[in-house]
Amino acid sequence: MLEVRGLNAWYGESHILHGVDFEVREGEVVTLLGRNGAGKTTTMKSIMGLVPRREGSIRYRGAETIGLSSNAVARAGIAICPEERGIFASLSVTENLMLPPIVAPGGLDIPTIYTLFPNLRERAGTAQGTKLSGGEQQMLAIARILRTGAKLLLLDEPTEGLAPVIVQQIGRTIREIKQRGFTVLLVEQNFRFAATVADRHYVMEHGRVIDMIPNGALEANMDKLHTYLGV
Ligand code: ATP
Repeated sequence: MLEVRGLNAWYGESHILHGVDFEVREGEVVTLLGRNGAGKTTTMKSIMGLVPRREGSIRYRGAETIGLSSNAVARAGIAICPEERGIFASLSVTENLMLPPIVAPGGLDIPTIYTLFPNLRERAGTAQGTKLSGGEQQMLAIARILRTGAKLLLLDEPTEGLAPVIVQQIGRTIREIKQRGFTVLLVEQNFRFAATVADRHYVMEHGRVIDMIPNGALEANMDKLHTYLGV
């Protein structure tokens, strides 16, 4: 579904990605693991067309997207849930959900979203974005992109800063999203969480992918992983 080959990216003069290679197959949940600064977020932003200078190849469903604007990438069916979540403080939960435009058929409607996220339904009318807890904001940020019809979802550290019980909820949500046929690329620092949701893991270091570990082989590769991630 997504094929990234020889991806290079720059912020101004800083050369951040040095030939990133990986792929995500339809229906998979795949993680990018790696230490702070390895280039995971930059890879996601590059896929989304949010990094101004990039070279190489990013093919989505067979079509080259490397030169496209972020709007065109969104219309092609890719959506990002950024680390900072982007919830609008002055809008209610429902208003936040309605915000991103529908880009393709097959997105979830609001009743289905509220079935998937019962805690958001409880907060639907009254709450303003800022009144939500961190976990609720994260759920809302994920829910919002499920509505758009995008089929490939890029989730940047959805568990960051959240309590273990909320992290478990997010895990359940990602597994449910997969069952509904969405494909997910996930940036994670927490590989124990990643192991509960993903099919495969790519490890990034210094702007490159240096290894790929199938989820079933994670335990057997624990020593290597500890070295990669410095944990
Ligand atoms: P983290 O978990 O810390 O976000 P990451 O693997 O996602 O780590 P990136 O955020 O992609 O890493 O950052 C890769 C490198 O790019 C880092 O050295 C970072 O300082 C640099 N960088 C990130 N954003 C910018 C920017 N807007 N301008 C310049 N340099 C940046």
